[in-house]
Amino acid sequence: MKPKHGQHFLIDQRVLNRIIRYAGLTKADTVLEIGGGTGNLTLKLKEAAGKVIVIELDRQLAVGLTHITRDSNVTVLQGDALEIPLPDFNKVVANLPYQISSKITFKLLRHSFDLAVLMYQLEFANRMLASPGTPDYSRLSVMAQYFAGIELLETVPPSAFKPQPAVRSAILKLTPREPPYHVNNFGFFEKFLKAVFGQRRKMLRNSLRSAAPMLGIPAENLQEVDQGILEMRPESLTPEELAGLANRIQAGT
Ligand code: SAM
Repeated sequence: MKPKHGQHFLIDQRVLNRIIRYAGLTKADTVLEIGGGTGNLTLKLKEAAGKVIVIELDRQLAVGLTHITRDSNVTVLQGDALEIPLPDFNKVVANLPYQISSKITFKLLRHSFDLAVLMYQLEFANRMLASPGTPDYSRLSVMAQYFAGIELLETVPPSAFKPQPAVRSAILKLTPREPPYHVNNFGFFEKFLKAVFGQRRKMLRNSLRSAAPMLGIPAENLQEVDQGILEMRPESLTPEELAGLANRIQAGT
């Protein structure tokens, strides 16, 4: 039976120890963990950090974590990490439930923190890391790299988990920083990326023409920009070039 809520527990002690090392934890750190599960990672976070806050959706597992929280620096919040307001933290360390990877990553990235060390499904991690001109380069790559520097720390085989997932995993380090280029209107940029990467094999001119009503811009705005760029496909443009194009077609200049 497929485990509910992405409950693949990390049991390889060497991987768990490396996650703690990657996060460079000290007693000055307040760490957020998404999905405490049976507490494998929580126990190690508890030793290394000053304070640990765990959000766990599964009521039974949340109750099970009380053996770690009693008289300790660990607090457990039972609930859905996508729904409940996030507490203050300066690092986030988690073996994520893969079905919420995208939503929880962007929820986290809207908060201010120093560092994230997160386990993802390898395929998803590859898309977050991807550079222009590669098959994995997508809306996710552009959006994630807008908010943070992203680094692959290691790939992890299914045998590190119990029960074993069907897919390989990867640990990423996310370091939030100032966006490396300017976006006039982030909401518009998100819709623009959805439109162009939704039809990634098409020339930008064609996908933008059909998306103009959804983007709320007159189709004439497309005539105001460099026509050479419109003959390209989204995957050959850097994030900064995509942002420049989005800024111009929204402004119609
Ligand atoms: N940290 C543990 C470990 O490494 O062994 C458990 C990791 S397991 C991949 C993911 C955990 O996230 C599960 O315990 C699951 O119940 C919990 N979870 C799933 N969806 C969640 C959500 N929306 N909010 C909070 N926790 C969630």
